[in-house]
Amino acid sequence: MNKAIVVGSINMDIVAFVQDHPKTGETIFGREVKYFPGGKGSNQAVSCKRLGSETLMIGRLGDDAFGGQLLAFQQQQGIDISGVRQLENTATGAAFITVADSADNSIVVVPGANALWDDGFIDELTIEQGDIVLAQFEIPDTVIEKTFNKAKAVGAMTILNPTPVRTINADIRNSTDLIVVNEHELAALSGREIDVHKDDTIFNGAARLHQEDYGTIIVTLGDKGARLVQAGQKHAIAARPVSAVDTTGAGDTFIGGIAAGLLSGLDLIRACELANIAASISVTREGAAASIPSLDEVNKLLR
Ligand code: ATP
Repeated sequence: MNKAIVVGSINMDIVAFVQDHPKTGETIFGREVKYFPGGKGSNQAVSCKRLGSETLMIGRLGDDAFGGQLLAFQQQQGIDISGVRQLENTATGAAFITVADSADNSIVVVPGANALWDDGFIDELTIEQGDIVLAQFEIPDTVIEKTFNKAKAVGAMTILNPTPVRTINADIRNSTDLIVVNEHELAALSGREIDVHKDDTIFNGAARLHQEDYGTIIVTLGDKGARLVQAGQKHAIAARPVSAVDTTGAGDTFIGGIAAGLLSGLDLIRACELANIAASISVTREGAAASIPSLDEVNKLLR
């Protein structure tokens, strides 16, 4: 059976709940602190696994307490962690998040081990024809280039989620089959203004990327669903109406859903429908990884 291979970040999200954000130089008391396994790579791996795929994680952790906890978390999810290394004398990636009563948040991400890779991983990595390799932009470009080039050489599919958005170099672009962006990333990459209420602006922005050899483009639009542009085809997927309580990780759930759907033999549009339902369930629950549904829950709603 083919597998999802996620090459990406693993972080501990440390969330302080406060009345108001502290001003510069100010010390305040928070109400509560919570620790959530996070990082876009880790979240997408959890999504691939819960939605039915064999999943291999390739990532870097520190040798501190968080590193051990995050490794144990991934193992409990049933993810193959043979590609995760704990680096000596290194801090695990962490995101320091304050959430105010207004629901506004501010976030400081310290990449730690996520930024520190040596080349050795690529020789140890076995990718097979038909596997799907996923990457995001919370790790160095060279890691993505090497993994995607190896994937393409053996006939595997590659999915890129360029978040946080930065320029996509030609090597990565040429080895990417499917790119998944939200409206802000689409605007940044296409140089076009995107209005989520106007489908033509979204399709035009995506078509622009398509002309620049970006392959297939999927744009996620929160409560407006998603749009797909591939050779000669545009397709709109409406969001499932739900009462959202926490949209953190919705994009990661969606991307894992696409990979899991394709690996189970669905075509791309059907895989997007599965992803759309999975992500719509995730926004009705708190947390990122914690909110990702199982395949059984999704299948009950997939018509
Ligand atoms: P994040 O960075 O928080 O993961 P994102 O910007 O990458 O978010 P979104 O476009 O907000 O991702 O959401 C991804 C998908 O989640 C959407 O395409 C849709 O399927 C689903 N979704 C998000 N918000 C809602 C909502 N309010 N109602 C229904 N579905 C939603």
